[in-house]
Amino acid sequence: MMRQYELVERVTSYDPHADEALLNRAYVYAMKAHGSQQRASGDPYFSHPLEVAGILTDLKLDDATIATALLHDTIEDTQATREEIDEVFGPEIGQLVEGLTKIGRLDLVSKQAEQAENFRKLLLAVSDDIRVLLVKLADRLHNMRTIDHVGPEKQLRIAQETMDIYAPLAGRMGIQSMRDELEDLAFAVINPQARSTIMKRLDKLRREAVPAVETIKQELTAKLKQAGIDNSVSGREKRPYSIWQKMERKSISLEQLSDILGFRVITRSLEDCYRVLGVVHQSWPVVPGRFKDYISTPKQNDYRSIHTTVIGPENQRVELQIRTGDMHEVAERGVAAHSFYKDPVTGEAGIGQAEESNAYKWLRRLIDMLEEGDSPEEFLEHTRLELFQDQVFCFTPAGTLIALPRGANPIDFAYAVHTDVGNSCVGCKINGRAAPLMSELKNGDEVEVIRTDGRTPPAAWERIVVTGKARGAIRRATREAVRRQYATLGREIVERALQHEGLASDDEALARALPHLALASVDDLLAKAGRGELASELVIKALQEAKPEDKPASGRRRKSSTVSTKRTKSRRKPPVKTNGAAKALPIRGINADLPVRFAEGCGPVPGDRIVGILTRGEGITIYPIHADILREFDNEPERWVDVAWDIDASRRERFVARIRVSCRNEVGALAGITQTIGDQDANIENLVMARRSSDFYEMDIDVGVWDLIHLGGIISSIRQLPVIHEVQRAAA
Ligand code: MN
Repeated sequence: MMRQYELVERVTSYDPHADEALLNRAYVYAMKAHGSQQRASGDPYFSHPLEVAGILTDLKLDDATIATALLHDTIEDTQATREEIDEVFGPEIGQLVEGLTKIGRLDLVSKQAEQAENFRKLLLAVSDDIRVLLVKLADRLHNMRTIDHVGPEKQLRIAQETMDIYAPLAGRMGIQSMRDELEDLAFAVINPQARSTIMKRLDKLRREAVPAVETIKQELTAKLKQAGIDNSVSGREKRPYSIWQKMERKSISLEQLSDILGFRVITRSLEDCYRVLGVVHQSWPVVPGRFKDYISTPKQNDYRSIHTTVIGPENQRVELQIRTGDMHEVAERGVAAHSFYKDPVTGEAGIGQAEESNAYKWLRRLIDMLEEGDSPEEFLEHTRLELFQDQVFCFTPAGTLIALPRGANPIDFAYAVHTDVGNSCVGCKINGRAAPLMSELKNGDEVEVIRTDGRTPPAAWERIVVTGKARGAIRRATREAVRRQYATLGREIVERALQHEGLASDDEALARALPHLALASVDDLLAKAGRGELASELVIKALQEAKPEDKPASGRRRKSSTVSTKRTKSRRKPPVKTNGAAKALPIRGINADLPVRFAEGCGPVPGDRIVGILTRGEGITIYPIHADILREFDNEPERWVDVAWDIDASRRERFVARIRVSCRNEVGALAGITQTIGDQDANIENLVMARRSSDFYEMDIDVGVWDLIHLGGIISSIRQLPVIHEVQRAAA
């Protein structure tokens, strides 16, 4: 058991103004009050409140909360009364202990009506002072740690209640460490087989992947030191329960989870977070779509951090979290990270800053709802929705409940309703208002799917959806569509070439070329041409050879060769010069009907003059005409395709452009730039340090923009920042 002086020392180590006499008094009072009482384990009962107090010192809570923890079972289980506690410890602590007494025996997995009423009581008891909830959570954590000593039936009930109510509450309060431990302890009781299976496979994975993590960790530490960035790098690992949950939710195997192993970089300043990110992205290949900036957009429970996943040695994916020490405090301690301490000057107690936290606001909102007088059952239903932050519950206009994992969007919703609904989905209304398909759904949203038949889901949706059902259906639908798209593109290319030669280009004519090309069907021919695997010159040649009413062979050959030379010459001119004519292929953007890819790094945005390059097996890649890389295709005129923008203004889509920024290496520089980009309604998709010296650094930033005008606006606002030396579009 922790000694009295040890407890006091723990508290004074983080709060030098703590009232030591109060702590000593509470320790002695509780020990005497519980006397010879014993726990189920046979330990003296007092060890329990003492451990609870210990857990709360880890969260660095104030002296009143620690004293309350020591006293939390006295009114309930001993001769002590509220009056006596008030007399000895003052009314503040008296009220806290009474709050805990009220919720001491609430059964939260009982019959529905009773459970609702109990949950209401719990919230009312904690509503006056959030510290009641913190002590209650610590109380539950210690009871879960020692759950082995109670009977199996009771174990299951307590574990279920922990999983349903207390763990999500801890999560809502942002106390991640406590949530993780509560979930894992409950998981071990509720589903011991699943847990041990995961532990075994985790062990195996750890043996295989840890070397990769270690290598990156060491290299990164060295690089950051070299760059003069102060930091600490520490390992991190997901807990068995959250792995289990993720496997269930995404229906994937443990090996496919990319964020089990990773580490965390704690920096001194917000500025350094982005500098570290720059170094990381410069050093290892980044897994696309895994970069998340919770610093500029914090989570609802105030969590702030940058997440990114890189591919390390032996193709291992390693997740990194980058945040400042302050952000780390909030990530670990949540609402408890806000100061509860007495003001040393005024002596004023209270929950002060904590009231400003999102966690506290959430609690207030629940309590307001309670006071608005919903029936307890309705209230419980509503609160449960709020509590289960890993699921969202949405409705069809007809009122059918659709449960989805958190982060799901209307596309997931549409596929959850029916595969046909998903495949034909083109838009949506959320709560009666038109909304983007990428919107993250919230609890209670009513979603109306807008459908158009005969449509194929865009392949890019596969990366947007979070449910396995939607992903599988999109993959199936796009595989067939891709083949059709290549055939459509092939037809465009072949028809243009044949018409240029004055040849017929209908299916009947094309069929005559098949034997010469060793192909089975016109569809095959078109698909091959569309994928860039069959040059239209070969089709022309095959057709000329196939012409039944042709002239003697020698003449034909000569004619054929002069024609193709002439054609090559005319093609050698940059195709864009002939642009604007009906000949150009219309490019609609990422969700196009044609297999079109936008060049990385120098990606064109609507408004740029563009050109298409045909690549074997890949279809067309679109480049802006200013891209340096186009010179590489100068000698392959047959690969150039005339293209022109044909953007549907009603379907807003972002395009990624790269800008190169050179700025002075000083505090606040990067933050200013990222802020400016955000203010202009653009997304930062990636950020890489290109060069660094002691006074300047140069970086490439990929921004998601609507069009060229938008991009121009961003570049000129960045240029106006005083730290900027130069900013321009990267030419690649
Ligand atoms: Mn207790």
